[in-house]
Amino acid sequence: MSTDWHKTETPVPEFGATRQADRILRALQQHMTIAQAEVSDNSGFVAGTVLEPLADNVAAIKEYLASLGCFALFRQAPRQPGQRGQSLFSGAEKWDSPLPRHLIQFGPAPVVQTRKSRPWVNIVLFLLTVLTTLTIGSLQQNSNLFFLRSLDEYIRLHSAGLLPKSPELQAAMNAAGQYWWGLIRASLATLNPANLGQLALGVPFSFALLLILGSHELGHCLTARRYGVDATLPYFLPIPHPLMGTMGAFIRIKSPIPNRRALIRLGVAGPLVGFVISIPIVIIGLKLSKPMLVEPGLSNITVGSSLLFGWLSQLFFPRLAPGQDIFLHPLASAGWLGFFVTALNLLPIGQLDGGHVAYVALGRFRRAFQFIVLGVIAALGLLWPGWLFWGVLVLILGLGHPPTQDEITPLRRSDWLLVAAAIVIFALAFIPVPFPRGVQ
Ligand SMILES: [Zn+2]
Repeated sequence: MSTDWHKTETPVPEFGATRQADRILRALQQHMTIAQAEVSDNSGFVAGTVLEPLADNVAAIKEYLASLGCFALFRQAPRQPGQRGQSLFSGAEKWDSPLPRHLIQFGPAPVVQTRKSRPWVNIVLFLLTVLTTLTIGSLQQNSNLFFLRSLDEYIRLHSAGLLPKSPELQAAMNAAGQYWWGLIRASLATLNPANLGQLALGVPFSFALLLILGSHELGHCLTARRYGVDATLPYFLPIPHPLMGTMGAFIRIKSPIPNRRALIRLGVAGPLVGFVISIPIVIIGLKLSKPMLVEPGLSNITVGSSLLFGWLSQLFFPRLAPGQDIFLHPLASAGWLGFFVTALNLLPIGQLDGGHVAYVALGRFRRAFQFIVLGVIAALGLLWPGWLFWGVLVLILGLGHPPTQDEITPLRRSDWLLVAAAIVIFALAFIPVPFPRGVQ
């Protein structure tokens, strides 16, 4: 960076406490007008207005400060009427320069604790999830993996309301006591080794579901890598939920997100990729599904429809005889779950994928909006109690959202197109009442 101080039009006042601080301010003045500053050798707080084009000048400031071993945050300055000339710094005097639009704070770059990534954890969790989804997929095909008679029995076990009929299972459940652990131990105790080969019946379901969940996470991972954000490999959750065999997967983000444009992409990438992969799986699955008569008492689960799932079902099954329903092929079930998971992640709240999008798109209206969303979730809880579980989970994880490193670079048209895409996908995939009858 070459600098000709004599041609600088507005000379930098003596802000800096030291010669190095002065140097920093003069360098910053290449990219911004400075209204006020408190700068030391390696940290500081500068109020001013970054020059246009913002993105380039922000990048240049970031790069310059990074070359000094500093990490910089960029914020919009509060712009309230009557605040003109008011000092932004506590205890400092009033000053006369025009109201600054931006605040830059910098300090020594935090030493990132690069905890050794342990890919074997991700691999073990993934393999366990393969096992649980294979099991559920196989049970959905009414296999005899366990001395359980059907998926129906498994679901009733899951609801823990009814004790199993088989004495072995009952004994094992009693011995184990605890709920999930009890279920797992009971399952192992009543495993039917002769029928282990029936796990293969679960392959279509397991493969399709993991493909959807995996590509969702891969979308996040690749976007993170593209923007230099440090993220973990996906952690799959091998939970023997009677419908999914997993509670999905997640990645952890370990470094700051550079700006709001990157945050939108990071949030939208997962749902977008997962949704796009789900669509052909739903179509093939519906093609392979069959209409059947619903017999009362038979072990079946009725699932709700999203807009797109409903339209596609209409397309493949325009006329169902009275009393008939579509018996979903495992691929259709997996695709249905793909839609479900996509919409769940796109809920515009907290730090869910949709929460990232809402953070950027709604700005200061986000807080009020989140309460509306919570209200809607609570109301939907009357139709499917599972929503209450998700609502509470969101509250536990927190409604807040950390700001990105650079909050001043403006959004462009492509960013708003991605926001629109997120809204359209949510509208197409959202299932207001996922399970009209009972299952949590
Ligand atoms: Zn996601």
